[in-house]
Amino acid sequence: MARFSTDASIQALNEIVISGGGLAGLSLAIGLRRAGVEVVLHEAGEYPRHRVCGEFISGISTEALERIGIMECLKDARQRFSFSWHRGDQALRHGRLPRPALAISRYRLDDRLQSLARDLGVDLQASSRLRDRPHEPGFIKASGRIPTRGPWIGLKAHVRGLKTSAELEMHTGHNGYLGITEVEDGWFNVCGLFRNDRGLNARHGDLLIEHVRRNGSHALARSLQQASWREGSFCAVAGFELGAQNRLPGVLCLGDSHAIIPPFTGNGMSMAFEAVDLALPELVSYAFGQVDWAVAVASIEKSFANAFHARLAASRCIHPALFSSCSRLLFKHLPLKPVLKLIR
Ligand SMILES: Cc1cc2nc3c(=O)[nH]c(=O)nc-3n(C[C@H](O)[C@H](O)[C@H](O)COP(=O)(O)OP(=O)(O)OC[C@H]3O[C@@H](n4cnc5c(N)ncnc54)[C@H](O)[C@@H]3O)c2cc1C
Repeated sequence: MARFSTDASIQALNEIVISGGGLAGLSLAIGLRRAGVEVVLHEAGEYPRHRVCGEFISGISTEALERIGIMECLKDARQRFSFSWHRGDQALRHGRLPRPALAISRYRLDDRLQSLARDLGVDLQASSRLRDRPHEPGFIKASGRIPTRGPWIGLKAHVRGLKTSAELEMHTGHNGYLGITEVEDGWFNVCGLFRNDRGLNARHGDLLIEHVRRNGSHALARSLQQASWREGSFCAVAGFELGAQNRLPGVLCLGDSHAIIPPFTGNGMSMAFEAVDLALPELVSYAFGQVDWAVAVASIEKSFANAFHARLAASRCIHPALFSSCSRLLFKHLPLKPVLKLIR
C-alpha cells in the first residue's frame, strides 16, 4: 500500500520542484503526488532511453517500493538468485544470493515511472535542464552524479547470444569489473566500470570489448564480439567520482547527486529508492505547511547519514580489493552474508 492516498479536498500549500527525472526524481515525484503534493519535475533528457546501469537492483524491500507507490512499475522485473564470480578467464566461485535481486532495463523502468508520474498529475518537463536553486525552499536536486575529473568510465549495452554460468556473472580484473544479467526479452545487460584509458583507440561497442580484453577477460571479449548487440543500447559515462558528491550547502540532494555507492554492490538504485522512502514524510509535512523547509532538510539529511554512511564507508574499503590480484583468494572464500550486510 502507498503510504499516502490522495484526498482531492485537501490542498497542499507548497509546491516541490525537482531537478532530474531519473529513478530518484521520478519516484519522489510519484510518492509526493500520491500524497496530494504539487510537483514540477525537470528532466534534461527524453524518455525512453538507455542508461549506463547494471540494471540489477539489490537491497530494496517490497515494503519500501509499496510505500513509495511504484511497485506496479517493477511487477515483471526478473528475480535473480545465482551468481558466479570470475577473474580473467577463470571462474572463482558459484553461489546463491541470500535474497533475490531484481533485474529490469532502465529503458523500461524509467519509461514506466515517467508515464505513471504524468498519469498522477506531475508536471513533468522533459528536455528541460534546470539550474540549481540553492536558497529556494522546495527545490530538490536529483540530477545524478556531479561531473568531475574522476578516473572512471561506465559502459553498458544489451546483447543477445551470450552463454552465462549464472543469473549474475561478475568479471573482475586489474582495471575494473563488469556484470552480466538477463533483463528482458532475451537481452543481457553487459555493464562495466573501468579505469578510463583515454589512449584507447576504439569506439562504441568496440570500446567496451577492448576494456574487457585489457581487463584480462579474453574469452568474454571474444563472446561479446560474436554476440548480437541491441541497436541504440550502447551508452557510456565518464568523469565522476564514487562516494559523497560535492553538494551545495542548503540544497537537498537525493540519489547519485547525494552519494554514489560503487556499482559492484548493485545497491545504487536501491539507495535512490530508499532515499525517497526516507524523505517523503518530511517533504509532505513541508508541502502541507507543517514544518519549515530548513527543518525538513536537516531532518532528511540526518536520516540519510544514518541509513547510508556505514554502507558507503564499507563499500569504499572493499572497492580497491576488486582490482588487486589477491582478490582471487578473497572472493573465493569470503562469507557472502556478512559482506552483503555491510554494503546494503
Ligand atoms: C557503470 C555503472 C553500473 C551501475 N550498475 C548498477 C546496478 O547494477 N544496480 C544498481 O542498483 N545501481 C547501479 N548503478 C548506479 C545507478 O545507476 C544509480 O545509482 C541510479 O541511476 C541513481 O539514480 P538517480 O536518479 O540518482 O540518477 P540518474 O538515474 O542518473 O538520473 C539523473 C537524471 O537527472 C537528469 N539531469 C541531470 N542534470 C539535470 C539538470 N540540470 N536538470 C534536469 N535534469 C537533469 C539526467 O538527465 C538524469 O536523467 C550503476 C552505475 C554505474 C556508473
